[in-house]
Amino acid sequence: MSNRLNVKPNDLSAFWMPFTANRQFKQAPRMLVAAKDMHYTADDGRRVLDGTAGLWCVNAGHCRPKITEAIQNQAAELDYAPAFQMGHPIVFEFANRLVDMAPEGMDHVFFTNSGSESVDTALKIALAYHRAKGDGARFRLIGRERGYHGVNFGGISVGGIVANRKMFGTLLTGVDHLAHTHLPGKNAFIRGEPEHGGDLADELERIVTLHDASTIAAVIVEPVAGSTGVLIPPKGYLKRLRDICDKHGILLIFDEVITGFGRLGTPFAADYFDVVPDIMTTAKGVTNGVIPMGAVFVKKEIHDAFMNGPEHLIEFFHGYTYSGNPIASAAGIATLETYKEEGLLTRGAELGPYWEDALHSLKEAPYVIDIRNIGLVGAIELEPIAGQPTKRAFSAFLKAFEKGVLIRTTGDIIALSPPLIIEKGQIDEIVDCLREVLRMVD
Ligand code: PMP
Repeated sequence: MSNRLNVKPNDLSAFWMPFTANRQFKQAPRMLVAAKDMHYTADDGRRVLDGTAGLWCVNAGHCRPKITEAIQNQAAELDYAPAFQMGHPIVFEFANRLVDMAPEGMDHVFFTNSGSESVDTALKIALAYHRAKGDGARFRLIGRERGYHGVNFGGISVGGIVANRKMFGTLLTGVDHLAHTHLPGKNAFIRGEPEHGGDLADELERIVTLHDASTIAAVIVEPVAGSTGVLIPPKGYLKRLRDICDKHGILLIFDEVITGFGRLGTPFAADYFDVVPDIMTTAKGVTNGVIPMGAVFVKKEIHDAFMNGPEHLIEFFHGYTYSGNPIASAAGIATLETYKEEGLLTRGAELGPYWEDALHSLKEAPYVIDIRNIGLVGAIELEPIAGQPTKRAFSAFLKAFEKGVLIRTTGDIIALSPPLIIEKGQIDEIVDCLREVLRMVD
């Protein structure tokens, strides 16, 4: 037993930080102590412009009073209530509001606490759906190289990031991966959707031929792959995936954890690309990142397959203690109201051209080998230092932070996804900072 008197509040060693080089960080920590709208405040009092909406989640900007008040009021009135065989009005209201803004036909929503849980929930719904219809031989799942679907076992199995998979054994069996859609030779410095690579979707036909459609349950892709560096689908790619899935009775899952809630200038990527999946996973922006929550949308036919089973049974043996938590639901409702009142779900479309020109003005900056953008998301890919991958981009991240701009890096790619309340002057600030920083890195 440790002695309480020995607790040192400022000791950084106890917290094993996620996705962090812990030893490096603890030698030179970067601490954020407050936030407001577009800015964080660092522990030395510096204001840091948030170029990443936290981790792609704070779409309405930080510490928005409406959301804060909703959380405070809900915490004082009904803090927690189970959602297993019980209910509370606010979660039903939130579900109705979500469904109201969802792509056509996505009429039901299942709550989780994170993107990873949304993904695993979606995979389970897909597998159980086929069984509920008496088609239980469909057990295969198909993901994509460079896909990020969170860190739970389902998500890393269908995900295509080697570092996230290789330490954890066999993972789920019966998983295949489509090729990723990044074609730097053909599509460099493209604005918006790339011209080349739509036919990569036809690889799904090859996998179907290999295994037979009768064994395949679902395909999961991020409409725009975010975490591996903003890989925008080539023109026609998603429609082709949709057509092939329809032809073979395979469910199509869009992982919209990043693209949901206005990132592309439409409520969802499904709206942007005009391709409606059967299941859609969301999290992050569903509560403006303020309270952990995820939401999985499903089409009516899928929900019906469960509801048509025997009446006395629980239809889907799955759920979390915090599914539909009242405080998260209250935060979510206030978030959706904020998005609506301030027109944030379409702001990415309005600001998109300015954002695009600003990012592409970095084309001549040192080490830049590609720039990609769509809606209010973008990536600047740097030439890696031979034998030291990730080093140059990470050094840019450190220097930008010192200069008061938060960017994010993944490999040698700088990824940007600011809160949707960003102003043009702040876009310039981010880009000017990057221009300066790229002159400083080795
Ligand atoms: N799916 C996608 C597409 C994501 O980008 C993320 C997180 N960046 C996740 C799933 C996992 O979300 P979480 O970290 O909330 O579990």
